[in-house]
Amino acid sequence: MKKYDYLIVGAGLFGAIFAREATNRGKKVLVIDKRSTIAGNVYTEKIEGINVHKYGAHIFHTNNKKVWNYITQFAEFNRFTNSPVANYKGELYSLPFNMYTFNKMWGVVSPDEAIALIEKQRKEIKGEPQNLEEQAISLVGRDIYEKLIKGYTEKQWGRDCKELPAFIIKRLPVRMTFDNNYFNALYQGIPIGGYTKMVERILDGIEVRLETNYLDNKEELCGLAHKIVYTGPIDEYYDFKFGVLEYRSVSFENELIDKPNYQGNAAVNYTDRETPWTRIIEHKWFEFGKDEEGNDLPKTIISREYSTEWKPGDEPYYPVNDEKNNSLYAKYKELADADKNVIFGGRLGVYKYYDMDQIIAAAFDEAEKEFAL
Ligand code: UDP
Repeated sequence: MKKYDYLIVGAGLFGAIFAREATNRGKKVLVIDKRSTIAGNVYTEKIEGINVHKYGAHIFHTNNKKVWNYITQFAEFNRFTNSPVANYKGELYSLPFNMYTFNKMWGVVSPDEAIALIEKQRKEIKGEPQNLEEQAISLVGRDIYEKLIKGYTEKQWGRDCKELPAFIIKRLPVRMTFDNNYFNALYQGIPIGGYTKMVERILDGIEVRLETNYLDNKEELCGLAHKIVYTGPIDEYYDFKFGVLEYRSVSFENELIDKPNYQGNAAVNYTDRETPWTRIIEHKWFEFGKDEEGNDLPKTIISREYSTEWKPGDEPYYPVNDEKNNSLYAKYKELADADKNVIFGGRLGVYKYYDMDQIIAAAFDEAEKEFAL
């Protein structure tokens, strides 16, 4: 007799939500994670009263009311609105691309003037944009592409903008209004008390074994459960039999600074090619610089974020969804579809540049599908 209905590999958002949904339906689940912490890459750790986003900034945003209603069962969210600043060689620009950006870039004051300038600059792109560079120029023109997109994108992805898929840049809104909200989302915020606490609540009452690596104990762990939910890299699950999928990794240089304010904003992107980091996150501003009692925090913590090519042993962060990798993924997906004993989920399991809300939606959709049977 197997002790568990589901073995869930990975205690990130997908794994935790699937575990919750299965448990709520009377299933017995075991969640394992190779790390010593839960919450995957949304993990936050409180240092000097500041919730530090240890695996990079996570700003929750969604247009999906079902997702919002679901996740707010587990945390109250604050009113944080992401409005990053771009630093190009000391010149500061508002993001996403909006009237403040256009005014700073060209001195234009009206939407008509901005539209006219962009129209003129986008003429160099004929037909449907074929890559990220063409897509960017066709959205905002060459000036903005050169100063605010090219360097940042090439640092983040380690690839020429001509080699990258156009969809990546479509994540960013372009607005002819004075609106610095990075996201077009009805709902946005940061869970009060941190993401780790939120995931702790999702996993409430569920058995979790940390520092347990599925790949090291495959046979024994598989013997425990009828079915597996796998949120690690899909290529790793299949022993890289068709080849290795490419990922981008990120490393962080964290610094505690003995002053209350370093950069005046949660995120500053360094959009030139020469600065080695892509952005600096000042974590306290996700919570308005206050502790839980509403007191101003005297110190600050910043993280310089460096983007690197993933190699075995590194943490994978971003799937590289170019043609080559997508077609390799399709081969793994074919195996996965035929494998009725395992469900793949999460950014790494389905090799997609998913945001948190898409992961949450996918997790409960997957659970609904699984338990409707
Ligand atoms: N991007 C850019 N300049 C910026 C911020 C973003 O060109 O200052 C582009 C870049 O191509 C990047 C994409 O937008 O890969 C998505 O960036 P975002 O910061 O939203 O990604 P995240 O790392 O937060 O998922």
